[in-house]
Amino acid sequence: ENAQLKDIISHAKEYGFVFPSSEIYDGLQAVYDYGQNGVELKNNLKMLWWKCMTQLHQNVVGIDAAIFMHPNTWKASGHVDSFNDPMIDNLDSKKRYRADVLIEEKAAEYEKQGDVEKAQSLLQEMGRLLGAEDLKGVQQLIISENIKCPISGTSNWTEVRQFNLMFSTQVGSVAEDSSTIYLRPETAQGIFVNFLNVQKSGRMKVPFGIAQIGKAFRNEIVARQFIFRMREFEQMEMQFFVRPGTEMEWYQHWRTMRRNWHEALGVPTEKLRFHDHEKLAHYANAAVDIEFEFPFGFKEVEGIHSRTDFDLTQHQNLSRKKQQYFDNDLNEDGKPFGNYVPYVVETSVGADRLFLMTLCNAYQEEEITEGENTKTRTFLKFHPAIAPVKAAVFPLVKKDGLPEKAMQIFNDLKFDFNMIYEERDAIGKRYTRQDLIGTPFCIAVDYETLENDTVTVRERDSREQKRMHISELRQYIGDAVSF
Ligand code: ATP
Repeated sequence: ENAQLKDIISHAKEYGFVFPSSEIYDGLQAVYDYGQNGVELKNNLKMLWWKCMTQLHQNVVGIDAAIFMHPNTWKASGHVDSFNDPMIDNLDSKKRYRADVLIEEKAAEYEKQGDVEKAQSLLQEMGRLLGAEDLKGVQQLIISENIKCPISGTSNWTEVRQFNLMFSTQVGSVAEDSSTIYLRPETAQGIFVNFLNVQKSGRMKVPFGIAQIGKAFRNEIVARQFIFRMREFEQMEMQFFVRPGTEMEWYQHWRTMRRNWHEALGVPTEKLRFHDHEKLAHYANAAVDIEFEFPFGFKEVEGIHSRTDFDLTQHQNLSRKKQQYFDNDLNEDGKPFGNYVPYVVETSVGADRLFLMTLCNAYQEEEITEGENTKTRTFLKFHPAIAPVKAAVFPLVKKDGLPEKAMQIFNDLKFDFNMIYEERDAIGKRYTRQDLIGTPFCIAVDYETLENDTVTVRERDSREQKRMHISELRQYIGDAVSF
């Protein structure tokens, strides 16, 4: 793991954003807990996504489906048979790897050396072999590319095998009638099986969308890069049901919308890129990833997929329940479009990956000079809309009625914003602590406040302070934190 990622991981732990799960027992691989600031940031991200999807689109509504689903769901969706990753073991280090990830890393190495062509042909070859389920070929590719185990440094590899990523468990009180069910590996299927429930109960007209935020579980082989790849994570997915033949327009639409959303959150455009899939999943006719430049390179944050009518048709076949929509709009011949199984364009983003992107993007170290001294200031430059704490209120000193006055301001604003009241330590230290968790505003109460009800407001990014009347605070903070 590179140095910058290491800094971010330790910052996240030290300031209450992300802790390793069950840390007193040395943690559990690829599982993490969110701390007091992390949960605020994550909730803000989720709420923002939810509002942008449902509140801003009249034809997108939300649901919250259960994690457990009928086992046939996963037969129909293809997950039982083909939700696999190709794995390979190194005999010396006894470490397990994803064969495709090893090859991707090799391609990234070529790209770094400037050999883009070689990188691309390697990825294409891998795509071809995996598409043809030629696992022997994948192993050969790893050997011929002389890919070494990062731990042992040897190329003593086993054959490549498929590994199913779904976690399973048993339901039923007595052993005999128990049956295997799965923890959902994606939230999408909860939406597909409720398609008609929502369409009918909401009298929805195609095109319309269903959005959902919820946990998903994958028994990932490689658990690395912090919360980038977890075994328990959260997805925010939206399935948009469209008339067959119009899916490409909607695919383009959502691709643009979603990228703009990330940029509006403060991610610079040069840190984002589209990556069109060369190899398409069996259910898709177009797919693109929105990638962010993490400290470990450009990696997927969100996927936009045109999933055709694959899922609904599969569910229709296995459940023997029609999954059709009657479209009474008129076609070119003046006749209703009639019954069809809608096509689906989905947007799928991981809340945790979005969180990691936000944290990496916000993490700033700047040299500042104070008199003779230069020092490094670390701060988190979150968009105010997602900052865990919106404003902190400080009395300059702990006497002469300043704490009471500061407390009044705190109590007045706490109904609208997540606030902190802080009176310990020198004021400079208090500013530093707020910088470290990304609080956009610090409000200081001093002796002048007692005279004329004005305070200083220090802005996180510029460190500039301005004086304003207490009655202006709500509007000032409110404007900044709106999205
Ligand atoms: P990858 O290729 O990185 O494994 P994927 O293509 O399998 O991802 P999708 O199935 O398209 O991912 O899932 C949609 C989104 O869910 C991803 O863009 C990512 O943000 C998130 N996601 C998927 N797997 C994980 C995971 N193990 N941990 C955290 N987030 C994940």
